[in-house]
Amino acid sequence: MSEERHPMMTCDQLTGLVTDYMEHRLSLWEAIRFQFHLGLCGPCREYLAQMEKTRASLGRLEPAPMSDEVRAELKKRFRSWKAAGGSGRSSGGSPPPEPASE
Ligand SMILES: [Zn+2]
Repeated sequence: MSEERHPMMTCDQLTGLVTDYMEHRLSLWEAIRFQFHLGLCGPCREYLAQMEKTRASLGRLEPAPMSDEVRAELKKRFRSWKAAGGSGRSSGGSPPPEPASE
């Protein structure tokens, strides 16, 4: 095998590594070559941007780390949703006649 150890990966190699790159699974050397290529290759930058957009819209990426603030807000909403009789009710959209008393 006469694989050239060229520092510049090809566009083909780059597109094959995009997923690993986005999931931070590249080795340091690969990441360097990846970013080096990106720095020089507009189409590949565009490709990466597209991939990131696609993945974001698919929601398959791990969600961004949740801050305590967001968590608290979600809890609050969940509680008021429950207090409003959210559980067991079909999501009709009309508000419940009366909030459940505690
Ligand atoms: Zn390229």
